[in-house]
Amino acid sequence: MAYSKWEAALTANYETTVSWRRYLHEHPEPSFEEWETRAFIAKTLKSFGYSEIQENVGGGGIVAYLRGKKAGPTIGFRADFDALRIQEATGLAFASKNPGVMHACGHDGHTATLLSVAKVLADFQESLSGTVKFIFQHAEEVLPGGGKSMVEAGVLDDVDYVYGLHLRSPLEFGKVTYCSGYAMAAPDFFEIKIQGKGGHAAHPDATVDSVLVASYVVNQLQSIISRQKDPMKSGVVTFSTLKAGDGAYNVIADTAFLKGTVRTFAPELRDLIEEKISSMTKSICEAHGATCEVTYTRGYPAVYNHEEETKLLAELFTETFGEASVEPTPLRMGGEDFAYYLQEKPGSFFFVNSGNKEKGIIYPHHHPKFDFDERALLLGGKCFLSIVDHYLVDKQKKTIKETVSNQ
Ligand SMILES: [Zn+2]
Ligand SMILES: [Zn+2]
Repeated sequence: MAYSKWEAALTANYETTVSWRRYLHEHPEPSFEEWETRAFIAKTLKSFGYSEIQENVGGGGIVAYLRGKKAGPTIGFRADFDALRIQEATGLAFASKNPGVMHACGHDGHTATLLSVAKVLADFQESLSGTVKFIFQHAEEVLPGGGKSMVEAGVLDDVDYVYGLHLRSPLEFGKVTYCSGYAMAAPDFFEIKIQGKGGHAAHPDATVDSVLVASYVVNQLQSIISRQKDPMKSGVVTFSTLKAGDGAYNVIADTAFLKGTVRTFAPELRDLIEEKISSMTKSICEAHGATCEVTYTRGYPAVYNHEEETKLLAELFTETFGEASVEPTPLRMGGEDFAYYLQEKPGSFFFVNSGNKEKGIIYPHHHPKFDFDERALLLGGKCFLSIVDHYLVDKQKKTIKETVSNQ
């Protein structure tokens, strides 16, 4: 069995994988500025014997090919490698050495995992029927994201199926999860500037109170969610910032600023919310004698996992890890630029739970104390290997399955 040999090699490489993760964690770089990280990935891939490496793909991405001896499909595996502008507070021995920057989303883990898979498979290249394309992506965390530009640069042109993983803390380590159809939301952002007319707090009749108008906007716009959208479709409108006035008791504020985010899955709901935020804000302001500027910025599309490929993952992972370790997960309101890959080619984005209460790994992603159980590196690597085993080795078994399901 090819897979069991690969699994043994992956396990043997665990300590090294951990050391890669810790190196990356110690040297985090923010989105679009990942110079050292990129050099490290390219250098490490070359040390495994990879000769077909493309750098600066779509800006800052790195791609490596592993071509098997025989013909077969090309499977794309993606790992992101950017960090966040967060001051780390974990107290870990390998904590960030770059002030104000931290791997607080686990992308150090994604990259170390995929490097490990690349190392293991390089030693078994001869036995593969088809190609594994390793896609290391810069700038997942900041718009417009590296995924879009890599896809636009044609990174998936020669790929048949594409897969990616995300660690999930603090969900307790031990499970791999999948989600068919919509899995993660489209995260959009908006800014509203309300221009009133300032003046004395004792004479509101001579002013246009921007604070009052902003309050109406905050209140009324929630009716998009409660009264105007299809109740069967999920959506969120959140105001995260409201600023007006300079702290005085006796001054009516001239201007108010609002900021927030919108989360949706269905494209038509996204269109509706974008339109309503603009038109309702304008009407409310007009009714009260204020004017406004509304800026709406679209983030990544929603992550849509293809049904057939997700079903395949569920089967493969169950076969590999047993039923108790694999389960479906509900869709979530966070965003991911892996969405662009799945708009282009069939595939699925899956999750490896990586929290550990006992070890104090209890913080969510993007938290200054975020961490993950490093055993997730091994579990994630096994997931990728089982996918390769299915597409590039286990032909006979696949044919039998197809024959049976076609009858
Ligand atoms: Zn993140
Ligand atoms: Zn992330």
